[in-house]
Amino acid sequence: MKKSHLFTPGPTPIPPDALLAMAQPIDYHRSEDAVALIKDVLEKLKHVFQTENDVIFLTSSGTGAMEGAVANLLCQGDKVLVIRSGKFGERWAEICKAYGVEVIPIDVTWGDSIAPEIVEKHLTLNPDVQAIFATLCETSTGALHDIEALARLTQSTPTLLVVDAVSALGADDLQMDNWGVDVVVSCSQKGLMTPPGLAFAALNQRAWEAVDRSDLPKYYFDFRKAHQRGLEGSVPYTPALTLLTGLQCSLNLICKEEIHNTIARHNHMAIATRTAVKAIGFPLFATSPANTLTSIRLPEEIDGKAFIKMMREKQGITYAGGQGDLSGKIIRIAHLGWMNEYDVIVAISAFERGLAEIGYDIPLGAGVAAVQEVFTKFAN
Ligand code: PMP
Repeated sequence: MKKSHLFTPGPTPIPPDALLAMAQPIDYHRSEDAVALIKDVLEKLKHVFQTENDVIFLTSSGTGAMEGAVANLLCQGDKVLVIRSGKFGERWAEICKAYGVEVIPIDVTWGDSIAPEIVEKHLTLNPDVQAIFATLCETSTGALHDIEALARLTQSTPTLLVVDAVSALGADDLQMDNWGVDVVVSCSQKGLMTPPGLAFAALNQRAWEAVDRSDLPKYYFDFRKAHQRGLEGSVPYTPALTLLTGLQCSLNLICKEEIHNTIARHNHMAIATRTAVKAIGFPLFATSPANTLTSIRLPEEIDGKAFIKMMREKQGITYAGGQGDLSGKIIRIAHLGWMNEYDVIVAISAFERGLAEIGYDIPLGAGVAAVQEVFTKFAN
């Protein structure tokens, strides 16, 4: 008998209540029950986004909300700054280019986080940029970016700050209203503990004004349509209603726990994981690691791809590997969503066992002991 454990930074495990809800027969999306469901979900999302602004949802993966943000906020001939510190920062630039927007890239070594002073310099040199595209947690490296500092830079300028919180929403703090972030996008299959297929965007007043000015082509991802219909508990097109029923259950869990406690739980899991990795003797890849996941730099003699394959096939443990140039060189362990300290113990003990299995000489149990110590300290 093989039991599977999913430690990838999306999709993440789904809570049993949400699984059960999604097993119910499908309903009509224009029924009164569906209207109530959509209204409830959109209201509860505000708590997770830490905003009083309306949140909209789209039937797509997270990239749909990223594309929607570009298509809805910008005009032909616009110039933007894009922080590229990994695969997902690169994606912002690719989408902007696909829409003919001029991109001024700010490149950051993978694993590092942007120094706000560098963004400040770029803003001073290019005061006419319409937006800065940033990423809260760059999932390809595990690095966290200081969005609060970036918002301090943009707040007093006409430049919008657009943040990809696809992986980190609900795990790393993002106080949209308090910090003055203009646009936040996210999706269902990560911190929101729901299968893939729903994307979200929250926009503040000045972002909606940019939407009114935008002349880039859009149809399915037209934010104004999604917004107007959403306010009535409706949708412009057939939504992934089944996913919305699951999402409602997962949101109930976060609202009950309260978002600041949800983020604290993720922080504890992240600290325990990082401490364990160091106790095992491996370096962390990110210089400023996120709560969402931990990226571990592997010693050269370990083939990360083969290790991940072996762990999945033999142990039923799924970790994520490196993307692009990092393929085979790092392992990414998520502590995200429907997880608590015992999931971290499983992730770390399996990592130790796996290393022993491939003949890598490590002190078995050092990582698990570190995790136990960290959690015991937090509990007292
Ligand atoms: N941005 C970030 C930070 C992500 O982690 C991901 C997914 N790993 C995406 C964007 C893309 O999301 P999706 O695959 O849901 O389109």
